[in-house]
Amino acid sequence: MELARNWRLKQQRYRLEGAQCAHCRQRFFPPRPVCPECGGRDMRPYTFKGRGKLYSYSTVYQAPQGFESYAPYVVGLVGLEEGPLVTAQVCDVDPSELRVGMPLEMVTRKLFEQGGDGLIVYGYKFRPPLRAGGGNGHREVEELPQTVPQAAPHKAVTVR
Ligand SMILES: [Zn+2]
Repeated sequence: MELARNWRLKQQRYRLEGAQCAHCRQRFFPPRPVCPECGGRDMRPYTFKGRGKLYSYSTVYQAPQGFESYAPYVVGLVGLEEGPLVTAQVCDVDPSELRVGMPLEMVTRKLFEQGGDGLIVYGYKFRPPLRAGGGNGHREVEELPQTVPQAAPHKAVTVR
């Protein structure tokens, strides 16, 4: 049943809730019942802060059926500050601006709408952090020059 499934996954999707091993202190996302590091079974809920760095990414042009209207979109592997790697859509950024190692923060966004019943599923995505004061060598959020063709196709890039 899709509704039950969505409800069950809500905590993970909204809050990046994972687990921390009480024995070796390793943190995992998604949560695991048994620690892969030390075999410990005392796993406690741990909510990740949602900050990390872009580890690798690729641009998806051929979206799966039902997701065509979302393409092209960027799927990134994000290395969380606390350690684990999370796969998520990267939003609010032009694909040409993406750099491996750039800082990202989690935001809650609409993930997709399921046809028919109009169910809208929200969840986490990652974006470059917004900065009020600038500095730190990070690009200010600004309007793109009109000369930049925003719909221009970008080459699919996969960085390992
Ligand atoms: Zn452990």
